[in-house]
Amino acid sequence: MPRLCDICNDARAIVRRPKTAQSICKECFFHVFETEVHNTIVDSNLFKPGDRVGIGASGGKDSTVLAYVMKTLNDRYNYGLDLYLLSVDEGISGYRDDSLETVKRNKEQYGLPLLIVSYEQLYGWSMDSIVAAVGRKNNCTFCGVFRRQALDRGALMLDLDHIVTGHNADDVAETILMNIFRGDISRLGRCTEIATTGEGYIVRSKPFKYAYEKEIVMYAYLRRLDYFSTECTYSPNAYRGYAREFLKKLERVRPSAILDIIHSGEAMHVAKDVQLPSLDRCQRCGYISSNSICKACVLLEGLERGIPKLGISRTKQDVEAGPRESDLVHFEKLRQDALEMRKTRQNSAACPQSACAC
Ligand code: SF4
Repeated sequence: MPRLCDICNDARAIVRRPKTAQSICKECFFHVFETEVHNTIVDSNLFKPGDRVGIGASGGKDSTVLAYVMKTLNDRYNYGLDLYLLSVDEGISGYRDDSLETVKRNKEQYGLPLLIVSYEQLYGWSMDSIVAAVGRKNNCTFCGVFRRQALDRGALMLDLDHIVTGHNADDVAETILMNIFRGDISRLGRCTEIATTGEGYIVRSKPFKYAYEKEIVMYAYLRRLDYFSTECTYSPNAYRGYAREFLKKLERVRPSAILDIIHSGEAMHVAKDVQLPSLDRCQRCGYISSNSICKACVLLEGLERGIPKLGISRTKQDVEAGPRESDLVHFEKLRQDALEMRKTRQNSAACPQSACAC
């Protein structure tokens, strides 16, 4: 006789939850998965009605499930959010071009507006051209630094209040381990937070912070979502790969290890007398930075001067790199444009005559 669902005790159990070891049916799995994400959102007060929220969408399983679940919960619980898909095209042929086709289909399937910003357009360099210049080393360093800024630039272009990303519990636990192994105190504090403030007022959060990767894969599979599952052409960051392997081994002997690490990370506090870097604005592009020139500008400087190691390992040149005639759109300009958009929107929302020209 088939095993019945541990929750409804009616339908046939087809999923064993790695998080709780319960055997449950498909409908109960959808319900508990979605409800747990909703509880994370509500308990952490992530949004307020009227927020314009961009979903960082790569076409991969995490962000595709995130887009689907955000739309479902927004409709079901009347969050009152304006949702957008925001994608970054790093310019990796055979990988990102294909995954962006998936995002374009998701745009139609979920009925959400989509903005794609590209490295080529923002920095004048695609990842393919960066790899051609620097070789197959440190690729993820360039890519990660540029992507963070690209998302913030896209958010300003859409005048968003909030960006949500598909980082799941496994990603967060890996990051905590990596920061402990590196002794990176300032990042250790930030990486456990569910929401951080990025560019000015734009909040960035991880609604899947407590969702296991295995359950996200199951959800995508059982809902038959349209997602892209090929690995990036350029090798994933080796250091994260070791942390991931270590975590998987721990999970095999203790399935709660992922959540245990997250809770341990949350419980750690940096002593008050530890000096943390203070944030300022990059003198070149205006992005938030703990140095006078932000990491992206240092990396770009290195690429343009043919010394790509600039910014990878800090050298005296980092500090001495002179001002560059930048073709980057200055963040101050993007911020002003976003504020203008916001003012126009607020005025038109306040006006009872929606067709008037005020
Ligand atoms: Fe970029 Fe590295 Fe991710 Fe590829 S694996 S998309 S190079 S960060």
